[in-house]
Amino acid sequence: MENLELAIQDVRAQLPGMKLLENEPMSAHSSFRIGGPARAIASPSDITSFTKLCDILKQHEIAPFMLGNGTNILFPDEGLADLFLVSTEKLQRIFLLPDGAVYAEAGVSLAKLAAFAQENGLKGLEFAGGIPGTVGGGCMMNAGAYGGELKDVIESVVYFYIPAQSLSELPKEECAFSYRKSCFQNTPGCVVISAVFRLEQDDPAAIAARMQELSEKRRSKQPLDLPSAGSAFRCPEGHFAAALIDEAGLKGFQIGGAQVSEKHAGFIVNRGGATSHEVYDLMMHIRKTVYEKSGVVLEPEIIILPPDYRLEDHGPKVPRNRIVSGLSMQEE
Ligand SMILES: Cc1cc2nc3c(=O)[nH]c(=O)nc-3n(C[C@H](O)[C@H](O)[C@H](O)COP(=O)(O)OP(=O)(O)OC[C@H]3O[C@@H](n4cnc5c(N)ncnc54)[C@H](O)[C@@H]3O)c2cc1C
Repeated sequence: MENLELAIQDVRAQLPGMKLLENEPMSAHSSFRIGGPARAIASPSDITSFTKLCDILKQHEIAPFMLGNGTNILFPDEGLADLFLVSTEKLQRIFLLPDGAVYAEAGVSLAKLAAFAQENGLKGLEFAGGIPGTVGGGCMMNAGAYGGELKDVIESVVYFYIPAQSLSELPKEECAFSYRKSCFQNTPGCVVISAVFRLEQDDPAAIAARMQELSEKRRSKQPLDLPSAGSAFRCPEGHFAAALIDEAGLKGFQIGGAQVSEKHAGFIVNRGGATSHEVYDLMMHIRKTVYEKSGVVLEPEIIILPPDYRLEDHGPKVPRNRIVSGLSMQEE
């Protein structure tokens, strides 16, 4: 705690132009509209100020938590008194490289990235137009929809490794992308700074038509009128999480203000005033009920904070080490 206070003082003194919010309610930075105050959120405006900030944090042995658009995170009601968040909101550069690839910084929204590609007659990012996250969060999670994933169009990712204070470019083959996963998730201190996207030429009007079609599909299937963090659980191999939850009779099931969406059983929505504890409890109830009915263990897709939070400590236990599916049992 003392280190954190000293780090905040140093950031104020050494980087006076940097946006630094203190005791900021995370409900304002979360698509769930849930979360108590975080002690500090800094928003560097370029890579130089980002590296200076990381240097100060490192001197105080503080590991920052990166924040994109907050569309895949559940923040605790109690707040994050001992966490220093770094937001990518000001890393907004996007342009065409001389060879026609698209360069976008971490804070660029996936909607803006998809629109930029469309305007430049480049296809391949239509699926991303409706995902409410950023390039940084999207690379981290290998965001995807309607058969497309960022890994299909990423050429390389530039990342900053805080422990070594080094900036490197990783070709996509080395990013270990798989379903909603990347190597950046497993390497603490790895921050996505930007990515290069390799796309194909197409008629802008045809691209726009495909984006429109996907956007209508999304609007008709997803509860976009209510706060949520997208799909609450990852799809287990060979299954759809939403179908398992629906078959377990949980559509519309509610704990306090947290509800399994009536429109899309894969989403947990905030019907108004939901607390993080109500969302945790609902997630536990879903896991337990789905396991009892189908034998399949659901794993959260949403990032639950604080970082040491474990679902098992907060409700009934289901085995984590194997997925039981139909007659076959496979090790996870
Ligand atoms: C209505 C709705 C619909 C959604 N639909 C989809 C969908 O179709 N497909 C899909 O894949 N997801 C979907 N999501 C989930 C979410 O939008 C994606 O996971 C998105 O990629 C998260 O991006 P973000 O910027 O909001 O990241 P955040 O939620 O801010 O962060 C997510 C994780 O990434 C880390 N992170 C963020 N930025 C960086 C960075 N620069 N460097 C390192 N780590 C970073 C954070 O620390 C955190 O661990 C949906 C969410 C909502 C609310």
